[in-house]
Amino acid sequence: MAEELQVVPARRGRAVRLAKGQAIQIINTHGSQVVDSWAFNAQDPGEFMSMEHSRGAMLRVNPQLGDTLRSNRRRPMLTLVEDNSGGIHDTLIAACDRYRYEQLGHVGHHDSCTDNLAHALASLGVTGAETPSPLNLFMNIPVGADGSVSFQPPVSTPGSHVRLKAEMDLIVVFSACPQDLVPVNGADCMPRDAHYTID
Ligand SMILES: [Zn+2]
Repeated sequence: MAEELQVVPARRGRAVRLAKGQAIQIINTHGSQVVDSWAFNAQDPGEFMSMEHSRGAMLRVNPQLGDTLRSNRRRPMLTLVEDNSGGIHDTLIAACDRYRYEQLGHVGHHDSCTDNLAHALASLGVTGAETPSPLNLFMNIPVGADGSVSFQPPVSTPGSHVRLKAEMDLIVVFSACPQDLVPVNGADCMPRDAHYTID
């Protein structure tokens, strides 16, 4: 495992293996990029990080420092051990997919986090895994007092980061979200690179 800076190219995904106890730092290089994130049990991708199970354990909708994200079998998977990005991450919104872009009026192929997940897992020889609801790092989906939600640009600053510690042997996947039709990746709707390092 290299400690040097690795890229998650704009509009693309990357999968990496993490051993229990290792941590990965995800850097919002330009400050405006949402990074959809998934984790799978390295021995059994049928166990995966689950937002609905995590919210029930954290007792909130946005993970905060020290919170542990849980699997669909309610076991600890990733703990948020550093966060200087402003602490705004989303657990409510599904990964973008071809259907989302079709609904938004796009015609023809559009990259998506759902496809990026499948391609990234395939790069490690994992196929057929489902697309769990992602942990949307840096994604700003405020929940109003009336329960309403809205899509807003990230509050993170360039170079800010989160660090996640693996609580079991994992495959983790990150997608630099290719959404360019609504301003989740900044007001200019421009997907950009993100980076990561592994401790
Ligand atoms: Zn996306």
